[in-house]
Amino acid sequence: MNQQPEIDRLADLVAASKYMVALTGAGISTESGLPDFRSPGTGLWERVDPMEVLSAEALQFRPEVFYTQGLDLLGAFREVSPNPAHKALGRLEEAGILKAVITQNIDSLHQQAGSRKVIEVHGNLRDATCTQCFRKYPFAEIKSQVKRGIIPPKCSCGGIIRPDVVLFGDPMPPAFQEAVTEASKSDLMLVIGSSLQVVPAAYLPRLAGQLAIVNLEPTPYDAAAAVVIHGRAGEVMEALSAELEHRGVI
Ligand code: NAD
Repeated sequence: MNQQPEIDRLADLVAASKYMVALTGAGISTESGLPDFRSPGTGLWERVDPMEVLSAEALQFRPEVFYTQGLDLLGAFREVSPNPAHKALGRLEEAGILKAVITQNIDSLHQQAGSRKVIEVHGNLRDATCTQCFRKYPFAEIKSQVKRGIIPPKCSCGGIIRPDVVLFGDPMPPAFQEAVTEASKSDLMLVIGSSLQVVPAAYLPRLAGQLAIVNLEPTPYDAAAAVVIHGRAGEVMEALSAELEHRGVI
């Protein structure tokens, strides 16, 4: 299907914007080889229920489940590389057009693609923290202790070391307030690869001036968006970059 008219419309919006932000979800990283939660057939959700094994409740009451099945799920986030969609956002920031990336992802691929202002509303897989003395560890410390049979992994103070990802049932981190501020300032929010079903992140599009959505499947916000492109993030963002380059915008 020829999507050039939608790409042109999106390019118009991007070129006219004064404060553009992006909101990304698991769908921006599927072309890098990381499964999302909900896509039929490939979604992580179909194999094991993340809400059960990656929950604050499992961490507290069923550490064996959390540090084996939950950690396995996080282990699916193996080393992968950014794809053209991540790279296009890095380029838009470099050109001074994109002011921030708000991401629900924990895979660090935006940073790897050159984005500097990345607001991680669901945490990251780089770090871990002792729940008692708050000492910071690299995430690898958890994997190393679990491999040696130490479950739950322990800090030198005797506390439990947990990953710095936001678990189901956890409160939102301070980064969420920053995301609210950025979304409220934006005159254009470009949503890429999110089902917009996970709250409270899914409330953020309501705060933006205009909305543009790039997602394989329909989202609850499609009717409210100025432009909707149902396509693959990498392909659409590559075409958008080419169009903006052609116009001399980037
Ligand atoms: P989601 O799984 O709910 O939705 C992903 C959406 O992306 C779907 O609507 C799907 O149609 C779309 N999609 C899949 N591949 C696409 C592609 N190539 N191009 C465009 N769209 C594509 O994801 P979500 O809304 O981000 O919420 C799920 C939660 O899971 C998030 O909070 C996130 O923290 C976590 N998660 C993160 C990662 C990651 O870090 N890469 C991966 C899985 C889950």
